[in-house]
Amino acid sequence: MAALSLDLPASPEQRGTTRHREETQAMHDHRRLGRELELFGTDPLMGAGLPYWLPDGAVVRHALEEYIRDAERRAGYRHVYSPVLGKRELYELSGHWAHYSEDMFPPMELGGEQAVLRPSLCPHHALIYRSRARSYRELPLRIAELGGMYRSEPSGVLGGLTRVRAIQLNDAHVFCTLEQAVEEAESALRMIGEAYAALGIRAARHRLSLPGPGGKYVADPELWRRASAMLREVLDRGGIAYEAAEGEAAFYGPKIDVQIADPAGRESTLSTVQIDFHQPERFGLRYIGADGARHRPVMVHRSVIGSLERAVAHLLEAHGGAFPAWLAPTQVVVLPVSDAESEQSARLVRRCADRGLRARLAAPGEGTLGARVRAARLVPYQAVIGPEEAAGEQVALRLRDGRRLAPQPAGEVLHRIEALVARRDTRLWDR
Ligand SMILES: [Zn+2]
Repeated sequence: MAALSLDLPASPEQRGTTRHREETQAMHDHRRLGRELELFGTDPLMGAGLPYWLPDGAVVRHALEEYIRDAERRAGYRHVYSPVLGKRELYELSGHWAHYSEDMFPPMELGGEQAVLRPSLCPHHALIYRSRARSYRELPLRIAELGGMYRSEPSGVLGGLTRVRAIQLNDAHVFCTLEQAVEEAESALRMIGEAYAALGIRAARHRLSLPGPGGKYVADPELWRRASAMLREVLDRGGIAYEAAEGEAAFYGPKIDVQIADPAGRESTLSTVQIDFHQPERFGLRYIGADGARHRPVMVHRSVIGSLERAVAHLLEAHGGAFPAWLAPTQVVVLPVSDAESEQSARLVRRCADRGLRARLAAPGEGTLGARVRAARLVPYQAVIGPEEAAGEQVALRLRDGRRLAPQPAGEVLHRIEALVARRDTRLWDR
């Protein structure tokens, strides 16, 4: 396999963090990577801040959506769908109209009513909660949705996937008793930690976001104090270091923000956990307690991976396009050394597809083996098929990080890759 001794550019796993910092910043810009890898795009006719997802981008997004729905199901969440529009009165009731209207799209006139593109999912979930009487036995009631929401960002700040006007949010609301709220917020924070491990990303820091001066926030000092104290307890019990920041809270309550940083060190919020006393009161939410009396539930708002847009942007930048195998648009590239191995190679691609792995053939017509390996440098698994491998139903596997494995039976290789992908392992190989 001497033909494969190539002078390859360092893979993202090998690249140093300080020596190539500036180069890395430019190379890891998610807009550039998104264009190059054909993940998403924009068109002035669709409008600024309204990106579309190309097939490979949609694959990554699907994988993320499947991951989060699976994690939520395991954690006892039930999924719902709710519309992206609501009547103006709904947002007047939630308080968005009074406290958040500068971030909302103008209302649409509709048969004597006004419909508004929703600025958040909370009001819809509150209505789903109160669609019938609730008993304490149902609590905590965890309602999750991967749903659309809209923000009328000024056109000057729009760009890529990080500042958009149409947002697909991984959102959930836990309706629970006062006694359950800290534990629910804690387990949401644990889910966030587990998700970051599977995604191979790290929180830059945790922030306790508190209200600041001004009329942006609903007034009720006692409720703010209580919710903040509970969030501090969540952070302290988890042994998590944090900084408190005034002026960063939601208008209805304080929140824990999990901050991420881009390659240039700029911070933004990806995940949040909030304890909210305000909206249950606004919506008149109730449950019947063990004592037969009516009580007010608490709402825990939480997002594990934030918006799909920001999550994919961050994954692109954090990994320089080299996604963990379970997220990679193409997981296996099959490389016949010559046309003589085309048939065996095509068969290997089919075998991958049968196992649910995303594979494609890089045929000799696409260039020399070296050129094809370079073109596939972000693909986690490169399966080289030479004459010996073809004859023995074997595969000479190269890993994206530069490791080369001795030829092995194709079935064993695929079985191992399938297992790594299925458990969303961030390691390319487990031995
Ligand atoms: Zn919410």
